[in-house]
Amino acid sequence: MRSTQDRVPLLSWLPPSPRQMRACIGVAFVLLAASLATIPFASLQLPETRAFIPIVDTALILGDLITASLLFAQFSVQRSRALLALASGYLFTGLIMIPHLLTFPGVFSATGLLGAGFNTTIWLYYFWHFGLPLAVIGYALWKDPDDPGMAPARASRAALIGAVGIALLVLVLTVFTTAGHAWLPSMMSDTVQWSAERLRIVAIVIFALLGTAMTLVWRRRRSVLDLWLLVSMWAWLIELVMVTFTSTRYSLLWFSGRLYGLLAGIYVLLMLLWESNRLYAQLALAAVKERHEREGRFATMEALSAAIDHEIRQPLGAVVANANAGRRWLTRTPPELTEAKQSFEAISADGHRAAEVIRSIRAIFSRREQSESPIVVDELVRETLLLVADELRGAHIALELDLSPGLAVVGDPGQLKQVLLNLFRNAADAMQTETGREALLRVSCSQHETRGVRIAVTDNGPGIPLDIAERIFDPFFTTKKKGMGMGLAICRSIVEEHGGQLEVAPALPHGSEFRIVLRGVM
Ligand code: ADP
Repeated sequence: MRSTQDRVPLLSWLPPSPRQMRACIGVAFVLLAASLATIPFASLQLPETRAFIPIVDTALILGDLITASLLFAQFSVQRSRALLALASGYLFTGLIMIPHLLTFPGVFSATGLLGAGFNTTIWLYYFWHFGLPLAVIGYALWKDPDDPGMAPARASRAALIGAVGIALLVLVLTVFTTAGHAWLPSMMSDTVQWSAERLRIVAIVIFALLGTAMTLVWRRRRSVLDLWLLVSMWAWLIELVMVTFTSTRYSLLWFSGRLYGLLAGIYVLLMLLWESNRLYAQLALAAVKERHEREGRFATMEALSAAIDHEIRQPLGAVVANANAGRRWLTRTPPELTEAKQSFEAISADGHRAAEVIRSIRAIFSRREQSESPIVVDELVRETLLLVADELRGAHIALELDLSPGLAVVGDPGQLKQVLLNLFRNAADAMQTETGREALLRVSCSQHETRGVRIAVTDNGPGIPLDIAERIFDPFFTTKKKGMGMGLAICRSIVEEHGGQLEVAPALPHGSEFRIVLRGVM
């Protein structure tokens, strides 16, 4: 079974938007209103405009053949029997219009080409109107959202057999209605008049077919294509009613009816072209966006490898220094075991820190590695502060905590720790600037009104000048001599990956406040 996400966005799969639904209903109403407007002129006989049929038939031939080729193209991807039936239906209507045009009296010869009789074109017209509703019925019955489609080789064979079969059928019907026209029930009394009673009998059959097709498509409607088919059949229905209420060619109803037939075909084609192009443009844009994102990711990866180097170098340096110190303590006589033990503990802590950094950075690239677990916020803050406790003490930074106990969020503890660590370090760096105030780092967490939990990291440093406030989250933006400018960019991406937000605002009266909002645990 194919899941919705796996599906290629084809019109035969895409559900209609409310806008498309409204457009279809609007078109259906306009068609109905226009047809009602012709009622007062029902008996009006217009001049015999011979050019009308070649124009309408040629437009229909081209339109239906193009529609068929677009549907065959969709079939080549979806490979469902339903689409094959519909594509074959349009191929049939497109092809059968060719003999209809050739045999129409007065177009290429007074009685029509191919040895046509009075009844040839009208019977071709009926066959044409039997064909598409039957194809639509097949389409509606075979339509199945879980249809995995035929195997590609079988699908190509089926398309070929379908196309050749339809061409043969059209050929047989053409021979039947031309060479064999004497055997067909006579409908026309001359080249212009037909018998209204006989036409009604055939019209009833077509009405029944159209009604069944429309009901089936309506009841099983799912896609944009279904919606257009319904409107198109609606136009056909109106055409048939109009033709049934007149008994001569070149009457106003006859002209209007034929125009409705044209509209029915053209409407589906225009919509197919419009939507296919729209989808194509959307996919092209998505492809360009993806390429940019990929390039951006490469740039970020380069920066990240530099960031890893930067972040790891410090704990590794400390490991080496502590190992040397430990060795010296042990080689003394007598060995200074307590000092050596402290050195080993420092080595172990630095090793853990380096491992934590690597794990968090890797987790940014691999969503699979991001563990989702409930995290108690005050514990997370306290654990992270422990990692920078020495640095804060060394820089004479006082600490103020306002942690509401028990607040919890969902996320990856390692990544979120990395975010806090970066904010604490940035605050500590900022407070190195001489301000004449006692450096104070304040960390608070509270329930956010609507969106979960809010963590604020506030310093009383010099603050962030307005002109750079928005740029500090950009990759590579730094004002520090040895800065990488990656910290806040990574922090924001981690928080956003967690469905949260990271923002900065000036702290009052001095300094900056970084605010993280994360979704809480209910
Ligand atoms: P880095 O720390 O490598 O410069 P960051 O992305 O973490 O990279 O920070 C970018 C810039 O944001 C810093 O160079 C600094 O100018 C500014 N910044 C970050 N935090 C603070 C803060 N608490 N106070 C003032 N400026 C800050």
